[in-house]
Amino acid sequence: MKLFDVYPLMDLNIVRAAGSYVYDEQDNAFLDFYGGHAVISIGHGHSHWKQRIAGQMDKIAFYSNAVINELQAELAEKLAKISGKKMYALFLCNSGAEANENALKLASFHTGRKKVVAFKKAFHGRTSLAVAATDNPKYTAPVNETEHVVFLPFNDVAALSAYFALNGNDIAAVIIEGIQGVGGIHVASDEMLQTIRELCDTYNSVFIADEVQCGFGRSGKFFSLDHAGVQADIYTMAKGMGNGFPVAGLLIASHIKAQYGMLGTTFGGNHLACAAALAVIETMEQENLLHNAAVMGDYLMRSLQQIKGIENVRGNGLMIGFDVPEQLKTLKQHLFKKYNILTGEAAPNVIRLLPAMTIDRVIADTFLQALQAAIDDLNN
Ligand code: PLP
Repeated sequence: MKLFDVYPLMDLNIVRAAGSYVYDEQDNAFLDFYGGHAVISIGHGHSHWKQRIAGQMDKIAFYSNAVINELQAELAEKLAKISGKKMYALFLCNSGAEANENALKLASFHTGRKKVVAFKKAFHGRTSLAVAATDNPKYTAPVNETEHVVFLPFNDVAALSAYFALNGNDIAAVIIEGIQGVGGIHVASDEMLQTIRELCDTYNSVFIADEVQCGFGRSGKFFSLDHAGVQADIYTMAKGMGNGFPVAGLLIASHIKAQYGMLGTTFGGNHLACAAALAVIETMEQENLLHNAAVMGDYLMRSLQQIKGIENVRGNGLMIGFDVPEQLKTLKQHLFKKYNILTGEAAPNVIRLLPAMTIDRVIADTFLQALQAAIDDLNN
């Protein structure tokens, strides 16, 4: 049987991984500055993460959400502590799209309204409402088309205020990535986030922060919105949450009330998924990884700004992007082929850096030196 061919594949067969490196079948090492799409948060194969999952496997791997699972309560407690969101409730699911799907449904249940405000270049996932709130017609099937979602320009406070002034009482939710990922690393401005908060308060709409990519510590604070000191009503989380084990979730503010039947999932919050997420949080605490992401992010950003040829270095913590001019358009491929370095991309001509939060100066310098050398190669 063939695989359904929806992914253009890199010529790389990864057979093992450790820390910030992945290895192919000839045991060639590749420096992972892509993190398997921002998923690897505490490094590949972290010993505590492996032990937590293996230890759980020996006890019980799965049972449905019809019974008590104390690991979920333990995870909720740890999340409250590390995020500081003590008055929120936790709902667990399996992927980023599912988290956003549930968040949007919840906003509609809560308000009784249908309209969703999303932003240009947003990416919120592939399922029905999540993809409807994603600004890319290539991902949207005819059945996903809806008049309920409107896309406003990113970081345009005046456009948002004007839209609310006319439609505020119909708006169920505003959904925004604190740092747009797929859209090309665009940081939401403090003013934008504060305005969303104020408008949602005025009109009783739900503020959803899609922290699937930029959350769980990657920005140097637990949620990227924390940089602006703004609270959302719902935070969605996925990627870095399990360090590669599929687990996702929503933090839901206390004024949004739960009712039986509103949300549900078979696999979400299973014992292994909770063990993986607990191991990630414990490691982040033990190794002070929020601080490390902030410090290493700063270092990388300042160093990248010194490199001639790349443009508009931007981001927060270890979610960094820069523009690649036309003459360096093969830079990503060249870094991979000649220097064994994996990076992410975002069209058009943006390179995205999403390394593990465990990187140190040696690893950062290895990357920076290779980047400089690759740019010199292409310029000569
Ligand atoms: N939201 C954001 C901001 C993302 O970057 C992604 C994935 O790239 C998603 C949602 C969808 O997550 P998943 O692929 O786990 O469904």
